[in-house]
Amino acid sequence: MPIGEFELIERYFSKGFAQRNDVAIGVGDDAAVVQVPTGSELVVAVDTLVSGVHFPAGMAPEHVGHRALAVNLSDLAAMGASPRWCTLALTLPSVEERWLENFARGFRELALRHDVALIGGDTTRGPLTISVQILGVVPTGAAILRSGAEPGDLVFVSGTPGDAAAGLGLIQGTISAAQPDDADQLRQRFLVPTPRVELGLALRGIASAAIDVSDGLHADLNKLLVASGMGAELYLDRLPLSRALLDSQGFASARRLALSGGDDYELCFTVPADRVSAAERAAATVACAIRRIGTIEAQPGLRCFDGGRPVSADAAGYDHFAG
Ligand code: ADP
Ligand code: MG
Repeated sequence: MPIGEFELIERYFSKGFAQRNDVAIGVGDDAAVVQVPTGSELVVAVDTLVSGVHFPAGMAPEHVGHRALAVNLSDLAAMGASPRWCTLALTLPSVEERWLENFARGFRELALRHDVALIGGDTTRGPLTISVQILGVVPTGAAILRSGAEPGDLVFVSGTPGDAAAGLGLIQGTISAAQPDDADQLRQRFLVPTPRVELGLALRGIASAAIDVSDGLHADLNKLLVASGMGAELYLDRLPLSRALLDSQGFASARRLALSGGDDYELCFTVPADRVSAAERAAATVACAIRRIGTIEAQPGLRCFDGGRPVSADAAGYDHFAG
């Protein structure tokens, strides 16, 4: 006999999560009550994942659980906020205990890693959909916004964009990789994205603007530029391409994926020229690779260069419909 809603919450979503002193009332009442420290602002984001739309139907439940939280942690990372609490709205076609157990495990492991408490949620029946709301804190006025870039600031990206899109292509069978190790590495980058929470925190007070790369580097950098009322030069020959991506897909495809591919959950951020060494030290402290890929300019638009020569993003393989 399928378990009831109460038992479901009790069994999978009330035990094993981070216990935080700032949670006055967690799961079990009509609403949760948390304490926001004096001198801090609350930073809130929500993201919904629909099966077959935001992740492949049939994706392993532990990966779905991880992703549902990771995409939200990534939004807080881009703000330079410290994640604290989350709520989980689950819409399930049926109660499958095995699926729930593994989903909860994927979700819980990532939540524990970041000391995020699950403080409530909702459970309903319908097509598989997962909504996670995340709440975090930032010292008043210290949030990193998309809108803060200034002319002369340098543009950076973390990690190696393009890997996750290649991983998804490998899972869907639209691309292939000769070396199993490359394929494994790329698939993992799609299945288990690492939100750059520590980097976001380390960049607070250093970065002038930031965005997380979920739709693709070109598209997301453009959003930052529009929000800032700025433009930029982007140096395509400086894009950090992973060895696995280059070796398995070749240079042209690797570059196209790095520009257009989504789901990386890296940070793209800008730094005033006199703060670059501070940014590099901050990234080194949290062991996160960052690469300078461009320069902010007052003139709107994103202008791509390859070896110092101007090239159109389309010619470099930018795909407007990818991501
Ligand atoms: P209500 O009918 O008042 O909305 P529910 O019966 O839906 O209450 O939920 C009871 C408690 O369980 C609430 O504290 C709610 O936040 C929590 N809860 C419900 N679903 C989940 C879930 N999927 N994960 C975590 N907490 C949940
Ligand atoms: Mg109620």
